Amino acid sequence: CGIVAYVGPKDAAPILLEGLQRLEYRGYDSAGLAVLNKGIKTRKVKGRVADLASAVPARFKGGIGIGHTRWATHGVPSDVNAHPHLDSSERIAVVHNGIIENADELRAKLTADGAEFASETDTEVLAHLIARTVKDTDTLADAVRTALKSVVGTYGIAVLDAERPGEVVVARNGSPIVLGIGEKEMFAASDVAALVRYTRQVVHLEDGELAVLDSDGFHTFTMDARETAKEPLTVDWDA
Ligand code: GLU
Repeated sequence: CGIVAYVGPKDAAPILLEGLQRLEYRGYDSAGLAVLNKGIKTRKVKGRVADLASAVPARFKGGIGIGHTRWATHGVPSDVNAHPHLDSSERIAVVHNGIIENADELRAKLTADGAEFASETDTEVLAHLIARTVKDTDTLADAVRTALKSVVGTYGIAVLDAERPGEVVVARNGSPIVLGIGEKEMFAASDVAALVRYTRQVVHLEDGELAVLDSDGFHTFTMDARETAKEPLTVDWDA
């Protein structure tokens, strides 16, 4: 339902929680986040963003993270089915809005190939798919792009790779993603409401676009790896 992502010098968790609170008006049944700090650390709960905030320890350090509010489509609302979802090696973490239509087929293939599924969600196939692909690609963006080629459905996603602790990759097809440009920090969200407290400079992704965010800025690409040129817009909005 809602996505927030952060890359920069600050601790991500408070920024993600604040962003998720601003997406609450859309409705949701559970919430979760992941930060990178010598591996991926996650907290996820069925319930409110306030419940998630209580579950996140004060010292939850890490300057890269992704957060999510879930409106369940595949699998009951529960702690386990809340996002982010990780692959079995806990290298890749994914938050996802939308519906993966061929999730059953992909799950069967991945399970036959040794993936161990923790949740009932369609989303989790993305984590296992990207984790398999990333071993053979030079960049996380290549792995996400390649993995998405076998996916049928709608998505806005944000992805972390524990082995590349400087970046977040986001992509969209049928579910909005907007980038927020800060000073030596980058944000992304499914809705500009989650960003306006931090920046007014935004870039809307188009369907079929993918973006790589790091603390120096962003690059956007088509799904066949051509870089796209994007003009930032200034949002006029009372935060
Ligand atoms: N289909 C996914 C799930 O059920 C994502 C739902 C959403 O957009 O929040 O977990």
